Amino acid sequence: MEINKNVKSLKNKSKKIKFEDAKAIIHELQRVLSHIGKRGLALCGPQINEHHCVIFINCMGKKVTMVNPVILNYGKEKIKYPEGCLSFPGKFIEITRPDKITVEYIDYKGDEIKDTFTGLISRVIQHEIDHLDGKLIIDHE
Ligand SMILES: [Zn+2]
Repeated sequence: MEINKNVKSLKNKSKKIKFEDAKAIIHELQRVLSHIGKRGLALCGPQINEHHCVIFINCMGKKVTMVNPVILNYGKEKIKYPEGCLSFPGKFIEITRPDKITVEYIDYKGDEIKDTFTGLISRVIQHEIDHLDGKLIIDHE
């Protein structure tokens, strides 16, 4: 399976999805990301041509599945860091993002979760939620 690199397609907003319907997409994201190896920290629906709000993260040993994630709160501290994207191989863009976020989402068991993240995983989550909104790293240039 090729990662979606079509900018026009990636700019489409993803739709919310019922947990039951998200299961197949979750499995496909896990499968595709596992084939990518260490450089792939996360993948979302639109990157496999499924324009639904599903994210799978495998960042520094922590695996998180998010269905219909919503960022409830941003911390005040912001950090600038070069960010890559599997849809734009070899491209890195310095992006300033809040270090801390609180996110509400449905997890891999179908439970509603509210959790706070900081550091790299917080950045990865913000990057993936941008994807769901049709926002790409090139839009930050
Ligand atoms: Zn990306």
